Amino acid sequence: MAIERTLSIIKPDATARNLTGKINTFFEDAGLRIVAQKRIRLTREQAEGFYAVHKERSFFGELCDYMCSGPVVVQVLEGENAILQNREIMGATNPANADEGTIRKAFGEDVQANSVHGSDSPENAAIEINYFFSDIEIAG
Ligand code: ADP
Ligand code: MG
Repeated sequence: MAIERTLSIIKPDATARNLTGKINTFFEDAGLRIVAQKRIRLTREQAEGFYAVHKERSFFGELCDYMCSGPVVVQVLEGENAILQNREIMGATNPANADEGTIRKAFGEDVQANSVHGSDSPENAAIEINYFFSDIEIAG
């Protein structure tokens, strides 16, 4: 297995409840390293650009409204098999279906306000990291 980097977002429902530190503990306890992190407020255009792959889905407009409804924490996680490992730490998209011990089981409110985003493939991880970070902002 290779050392990978993946893009993570702590979503507005979680920042509203002051859960950044608790969520970061899940990543660090699993051996992932937070090699870049910043708290930002997405514009509607930035949210639409980030989720462009979902623009044909029924929930796209609502998803973009939600993602710019409050601050988010965007971060780069690094570690062995980081992309798949983070998806496992996050749990299923719908918190109702998420396994015990996952972030979405612990904190997710519903299928939209599910506390975290994580890249789903090496290709998307590269695109998503580049969307928010330049190389000099990432210290591995
Ligand atoms: P994931 O975040 O697990 O990769 P998707 O890529 O399918 O899930 O969806 C992106 C985001 O869109 C989800 O994390 C969630 O916030 C939102 N979402 C997904 N499905 C729905 C839905 N049926 N209704 C409302 N929002 C949804
Ligand atoms: Mg996804």
